[in-house]
Order: sequence, then C-alpha cells, then structure tokens
Amino acid sequence: MIYLDYSATTPVDPEVIKSMKPFFSDHFANSASVHTPGQTALKAVDDARYLIADKLKTKGNNLIFTSGATEANNLALFGIANNYTFKNVHIITTKIEHASILEPCHYLEKRGVKITYLPVDHTGLIKPDDVIAHIRPETRLISIGYVNSETGLIQPIKKIGRLISNYNKKRYTEWLNTPTRRRGVKPIPILFHTDATQALNFLDCAPRSLHVDLMSLSAHKIYGPKGIGLLYCHSDIKLTPLLYGGHQERNIRSGTVNVPAVVGFATAFKALSHQQKKISKHIANLRTLLLKNLKKELPKLIINTQLENSIPSVLSLSFPSLEGDLLQALLDKQGVAVSTGSACASGDITTSHVLQAMGKSELVARGAIRLSLGKQTTLKEIKIVTKILPATIKKLLASSHSVTG
Ligand code: PMP
Repeated sequence: MIYLDYSATTPVDPEVIKSMKPFFSDHFANSASVHTPGQTALKAVDDARYLIADKLKTKGNNLIFTSGATEANNLALFGIANNYTFKNVHIITTKIEHASILEPCHYLEKRGVKITYLPVDHTGLIKPDDVIAHIRPETRLISIGYVNSETGLIQPIKKIGRLISNYNKKRYTEWLNTPTRRRGVKPIPILFHTDATQALNFLDCAPRSLHVDLMSLSAHKIYGPKGIGLLYCHSDIKLTPLLYGGHQERNIRSGTVNVPAVVGFATAFKALSHQQKKISKHIANLRTLLLKNLKKELPKLIINTQLENSIPSVLSLSFPSLEGDLLQALLDKQGVAVSTGSACASGDITTSHVLQAMGKSELVARGAIRLSLGKQTTLKEIKIVTKILPATIKKLLASSHSVTG
C-alpha cells in the first residue's frame, strides 16, 4: 500500500517504540506513587517534560500532558471560558478550524458565549488586522490554527500574536494613564491560542517567539504514539480543568499519567529537531515532482493548496465534477491511501468547510482529495501515484460521461 495520509497520522519511529518499551513492563509504576518504582516513573515523565520544554524554549511547568490535540483544544477553550460567566465571554476563531475547535465553539455558543468566526480569503488566509478589528470588551480568547489540516496553509501566527500582545499592552497603558477616579476595572489580557498540531513537523513552534499564550500539540503527527499530546499554557494563566480527580498535571488534568506515551512523545520530539530540515527538503522535492506530473496529465486539475505558503507535505486537489469520496475509494482499491479533506472528519460524506470558506464551489469542495507525504515516502511511490491517479480520474470521467451521455 502506498500511504499518502501522513497528515492523518504517522507511523511510530522504531527509536520511539524502543524508548517506550521499558515503561510498560520493567518501570510500569504509577508516576504519582511515592515509592521507589513510582519515583523512577516520575523521573522519566520529568525528563520527557524538560526535553520537550527545552525544544519549545519554555519551562516544563508550562506543559500539560493530555490525550492528544483534541483534548488540548477543548481544554484551552473550555478552560478559559469556564473562568467566567458564559454571557461575559467572547471568543474569536476562524471558519476553517479543525473540528476539535469548531465543535466546542458551537457548544459554548449554545450556552451563551459569543463567538466570532473570521472569514478567510480564496487561499485560506485570515487578515491579521481583521482579528484586532473584531475584539470586543469581553473578548477573552483568540484561537487560530497554525497550519490547516486540509490544505496545509500556514497562518501568520507570529504576526497575529504580536498584534494581540501590542493591543493588550496599549489597553493596559491607557488604563494606567487614566486618572484613578475614572479608571474602571483593570483590563483582562486577551489570550492567544494556536492549534499547532499540523505545524510541528515543519515549523518553529516555540510559543514565546510566536507570542502565543496557549498551544496544542499531538505526538502521533510527529512519528510518536497516539493518545498523547499537550497544551502549552503558561503557569501564570488560570485554567478551569475539564477533568477532576487525582490532581495530576498542575491540578488541571487529573488522571494517571500515560508514562510510556509521554516518554515516546519526548523521543519523537528529539528526533524531529534533528531531522527537520533534511526531511522538509525531501518531502518538498517529492511534492513538486508529483504536482508537475499530475498537471501535465490533467490540465483541468484544481490545486487547493497554496504552494508558496504551505507546509511541504500537503497537496489538496480537486477535479471538477468528480466526487472526492469515490476517487478516494478507487485509489484505495489500487493500493493508494489518501483522504478526502480532513481525515478526522472522514467517514461521513461532507463538503469541506475549509474549501467552502475559501469560496470554492460545492462541486470543487466535494471533489477534493488530500495527499499528504511523510518521511517514508519514496520517489518510487510518487512515480507510481503519478500514473495511477490520472488514469483513475480519466476512467471515472469516461464512465460518468457514458452514463450521462
Ligand atoms: N488539530 C488538528 C489541526 C489536527 O489535524 C488534528 C488531528 N487530525 C487534531 C487537532 C486532533 O488531534 P488528536 O488526534 O491528537 O486528538
């Protein structure tokens, strides 16, 4: 099988598995136990935490381990919103976020939180000034994904972060300079969250340099295990927990820590930083070749990914009048695994909300498939796909013409 769905998940690196193994058996103890085996497990969690923190240029106590990015996103949104009465909360996000942002937002909206969903341009980009223009007195959180999972598009997170930080500073200075009698309540800083799940393989995700207060990450997108992720949240920021119980993770995320997974996450992080440049180049070269050959064979092909401003691994394509789901199923039969839109939303036939927000017609949005490359993708595989994909599309077109004709 040729696997071109690395955005959905990645295989676990052998050295990650090796690092995890002892913590299933030899050092299986609960990291919250005070006895010696427990302290051995705790040391492994602490070492992993500090390694990841170091790579993110932050401190270990700013990281909260979760079951993945879905939980980290939910924790960021509910954790901030639950600090206040819902009717006094306004959140800004975008129309193209992952379901693990949009669904919690819809839930909160039904319960009185006000949500602004920012529009995007035809490439999928939001305007940084638009973010500031939508701030209201009760805005508490802004959540914008770093890299879109369907198209691979990169948002200008650093620029947006700087604008929000300057906005907070300006508002505070104005308040300070107002005579005490007329000051009113001290302004609450607006927090900035980014879901960087799809960015970590290719981009610098150090939260301070991005000017973000909260950030979600997941291990299984970087050749680590499934079921582990984290929320970066500075220890000064108050967050209401989603889970209550044993007080783990700064009292914010109760539950026995998944020691082997945390260790594996750190090993994947370590490998990532060593290989990042080399792998990016390898993948970028393969994507260029793939696209060049596909365009030659299929002049009507629509490219939904903006190549100059995307991570190198993702290619979202549409072919007018073809259903993405059908194309995906036929490719699967021929040994090529791709996805339609975001793999997390696959299973039900839906029109991509991302492509629709970009102004693509329903026909184009329904016809989209996502090819995503990874470090194991080979030149040979790409050459095979450049033959199979055009042939499958041509066959599909011929059969639909013969039916309608
Ligand atoms: N955010 C984005 C952008 C994603 O691509 C994904 C995974 N598809 C998630 C969040 C959810 O991550 P997890 O599987 O770790 O819950």
